[in-house]
Amino acid sequence: MSDPGRTIDARALRPATQLVHGGTLRSGFGETSEALFLTQGFVYETMQSAEARFKGEEPGYVYSRFSNPTVAMFEERMALLEGAEAARATATGMAAVTASLLAQLRAGDHVVAARAMFGACVYIVAELLPRFGIASTLVDGADLDAWRRAMRPETKVLFLESPTNPCLEVYDIPAIAEIAHAGGARLVVDNVFATPLLQKPLQLGADCVVYSATKHIDGQGRCLGGVILGGAELVGKTMHDFLRQTGPSISPFNAWVLLKSLETLSLRVERQVQSAARIADFLAGHAHVLNVRYPGRADHPQAELVKRQMTGGGTLVAFDVEGGKEAAFAFANRLQIIKISNNLGDAKSLVTHPATTTHQKLSPEERAAFGIGEGLLRLSVGLEDPEDLIEDLGAALSVLDRQDLAAE
Ligand SMILES: *Cc1c(COP(=O)(O)O)cnc(C)c1O
Repeated sequence: MSDPGRTIDARALRPATQLVHGGTLRSGFGETSEALFLTQGFVYETMQSAEARFKGEEPGYVYSRFSNPTVAMFEERMALLEGAEAARATATGMAAVTASLLAQLRAGDHVVAARAMFGACVYIVAELLPRFGIASTLVDGADLDAWRRAMRPETKVLFLESPTNPCLEVYDIPAIAEIAHAGGARLVVDNVFATPLLQKPLQLGADCVVYSATKHIDGQGRCLGGVILGGAELVGKTMHDFLRQTGPSISPFNAWVLLKSLETLSLRVERQVQSAARIADFLAGHAHVLNVRYPGRADHPQAELVKRQMTGGGTLVAFDVEGGKEAAFAFANRLQIIKISNNLGDAKSLVTHPATTTHQKLSPEERAAFGIGEGLLRLSVGLEDPEDLIEDLGAALSVLDRQDLAAE
């Protein structure tokens, strides 16, 4: 299962190389492409060997709910990219978020989280955890004093997502990690929007990073998946034990798809970031666009912070069109290349209207507090030629030249 005589220290390699070679476990057949071990379990030469493997005295696999060679390759490649001691893959991003919290919390503990979170994360923190006696406080993630004020002696975990969905606000990870550690708590960061290439939360002070691999890591709209990364004790032991007993395991098939996707992650993200930056500039100069939020632009409210903790502006652009919901719908319905979808990080450019989809359950007041207006659109920039995307956006925006939108 190794590459005799050719073992290289993958930690010393640069990300693009790690993404192609990191974690590869080559079988005796010497295959070029990583093998898909679509198996539930494993057989043993002898009863003695089975006994030793169950005792953890002999290396090897036991059951794919715990570990699997294809899943292990994906985990190791992710760990190298993130610079983490340990990584564990899960069936979905939400399984990763849920496990990262439940595995380290117990009744009586307290969690503080930034209010602007992925909808299902709000459910976990504000509804599910309290049912089991774990209190939670939601704060404005950009307000460091709000984080400090929310801390209690029993606070165990701080949780945030940055940049946020859908308004692309950026939170100060080093400062929030410091607040967590001063209070004896850990910081967990959902790093989906930044991708592992543009922001390294562990290096910025976080204790644990979670991903929905469904997004940029697959990047081609095929599989759901998740990953948890962090220290050997927290992720390699505490979370591993939780995952192996509760069972939100990823299918080896999905892990194989995601493993192969990692080979092109840096190329894809680099291209998407370049295109997103150009599109943000195009939109900012358009007469029917009221404002553009893109972490890579100098007019982003946290532009200085972005420079300190990210190496690129990301692959998403949020913008408000003039004319509210009616105008936003008329515009998006006119797009030809850019598809209407709530997903993100895909090869295909996707547009969503948060007020009526991902954030429709919030009251209008709550939406206003988050900056989610009726004219807000979130664009996930794909791999198409950016000129075609700009032409598509320009042509669709021209529908707003007309006054009689109600007919659209
Ligand atoms: C999509 C997403 C999730 C959930 O991931 P799934 O793979 O859909 O379960 C969590 N956090 C963020 C920021 C996301 O974008």
